[in-house]
Amino acid sequence: SPGSLGRTDLDGNPVAPLTICMIGAGGFIGSHLCEKLMAETAHVVLAVDVYCDKIRHLVDPAPPHLSGRISFHRLNIKNDSRLEGLIKMADLTINLAAICTPADYNTRPLDTIYSNFIDALPVVKYCSENNKRLIHFSTCEVYGKTIGSFLPKDHPLRKEAEFYVLKEDESPCIFGPIVKQRWSYACAKQLIERLIFAEGAENDLEFTIVRPFNWIGPRMDFIPGVDGPSEGVPRVLACFSNNLLRREPLKLVDGGESQRTFVYIKDAIEAVHLMIENPARANGHIFNVGNPDNEVTVRELAEMMIEVYANVSGEPPLDEPLIDVSAKQFYGEGYDDSDKRIPDMTLINKQLGWNPKTPLKDLLETTLTYQHKTYKEAVKRQMSQATAS
Ligand code: NAD
Ligand code: UDP
Repeated sequence: SPGSLGRTDLDGNPVAPLTICMIGAGGFIGSHLCEKLMAETAHVVLAVDVYCDKIRHLVDPAPPHLSGRISFHRLNIKNDSRLEGLIKMADLTINLAAICTPADYNTRPLDTIYSNFIDALPVVKYCSENNKRLIHFSTCEVYGKTIGSFLPKDHPLRKEAEFYVLKEDESPCIFGPIVKQRWSYACAKQLIERLIFAEGAENDLEFTIVRPFNWIGPRMDFIPGVDGPSEGVPRVLACFSNNLLRREPLKLVDGGESQRTFVYIKDAIEAVHLMIENPARANGHIFNVGNPDNEVTVRELAEMMIEVYANVSGEPPLDEPLIDVSAKQFYGEGYDDSDKRIPDMTLINKQLGWNPKTPLKDLLETTLTYQHKTYKEAVKRQMSQATAS
């Protein structure tokens, strides 16, 4: 039918147009999800956020072909009575709202815990009370450290998959001590996951929990001093992009030995799209969403970004493009790190047939091309103003 744009779910049934209350729609993931839903579906989005810079092209004002499809609701879910009404109007709520930059976890642990647990509570409650489906965004960080990380450095068992691969329904959650406030985020996310799971078990809440593994791409975070605070510390993609744009060395925290798997935002959004349109396959599950083939150490990521940026910008790399900093210098007291994050993909593959596609090199090319085009001139202007004053 025209209403569903001829879309069918994985079982061949037509997909009826949904009204989706998307909280945190103005962020990195939200902006890509809004674009996807507008371009490829007939769903209606109620976009909730405290700001809309990243979806301005969709909502301020909505272009004529999207009229009636997307509306922006500027509100803080901490303290706004309009929230319940929006959830009631929708068939499905997707909650992306969170403080989710590591630099905040140890320096603003209260805001981090409130944002990721307390402020998410009413969303869960309204969904449960009104029998509305919820897709909640958690994090791969709920796994914490790998079991293998507690073995001696060169122990052979460290190479065995069962000592590092992270499985939704089997792996434990391993956090550091309370004084390592880094884990305030993971712990708050773990507790909201447990609450949602319990609402499912005791009150039949229909839920899906997403654990993103380092989704990256255009519009992630901010460039300090350009579209964010000059003292702000975003996640690693934006930190390294900022260094490259300013022609300063990339900073490797504690040697850059931690390992991460990076997935291209557009691949990951496909997975969310499948969850939205296949509730029977997605409900009651927690899904890893990542790309196990794109594993690098942070040092290797830095080296790749230096090489790719040189090609994209035509500027030769610095003679000394990397410098070491301690975690304490970079993040302050209470920082700690996840050592390695390899998502097990069995469940999402079985339930939704999803697989990531884009190799790291390709996604860095696309992303750094975007960073260069979007920010190079603004960074130059900002740097010349800073030296003039
Ligand atoms: P983001 O910071 O770009 O987006 C979060 C959005 O939520 C922001 O636009 C922010 O303004 C909004 N928000 C926060 N508090 C709010 C409030 N009280 N009221 C209204 N709006 C509020 O982050 P993102 O990368 O898009 O992440 C989205 C979700 O995915 C988060 O829950 C995060 O924990 C999770 N996640 C993301 C990644 C990743 O790889 N990007 C990894 C792990 C987890
Ligand atoms: N990191 C780094 N230099 C930077 C920013 C981050 O070495 O300028 C490291 C950080 O210590 C961590 C990894 O990069 O080991 C990924 O950090 P990110 O902030 O993206 O989030 P995480 O994956 O830890 O949630």
